[in-house]
Amino acid sequence: MRKITLSNGTTVEVECLSCALTGGLIEPEGGVVVETEYFHAHQDVAYPIRGLIILASKRHIKCFDELTEEERMDYINLLSKIRKVQREILDIEYVYYFYNEDTTHHFHTWMVPRYEWMYEFGRSIESVRPVLLHARNNMNSEENKKEVMSAIKALTNELKC
Ligand SMILES: [Zn+2]
Repeated sequence: MRKITLSNGTTVEVECLSCALTGGLIEPEGGVVVETEYFHAHQDVAYPIRGLIILASKRHIKCFDELTEEERMDYINLLSKIRKVQREILDIEYVYYFYNEDTTHHFHTWMVPRYEWMYEFGRSIESVRPVLLHARNNMNSEENKKEVMSAIKALTNELKC
């Protein structure tokens, strides 16, 4: 069991954070961006980067080869759909994707938009962790949070169509 402190200050104990989120036990701050039969997308606002999305499977699996045929189709279609909307609505030119199987949660893909300011941390894989930490530790201004929340809303609205 893992202890999770929610944004409203209450603490819950969950077996798997991804299960708690995708199953609706925990409501992500900003809400669910889009949801299908097999997948669930939200922004982890602990990393306040405009347009960042975490796409998680609803089933508690860890590895890519555990996806069923239907889940695979749903995954790639939803990933592409979110990517397209990031471009059209938020003008995001490039996205970094990452996903590791030895996670303490379950199957989830990070979609991290690439912004100009990130290049000071380098390029490619080695820049991802420093970028995320920088966002988490230094980008919590009200102004930036507002931008992040409004991006969540814009993506959510567009993905309803
Ligand atoms: Zn799980």
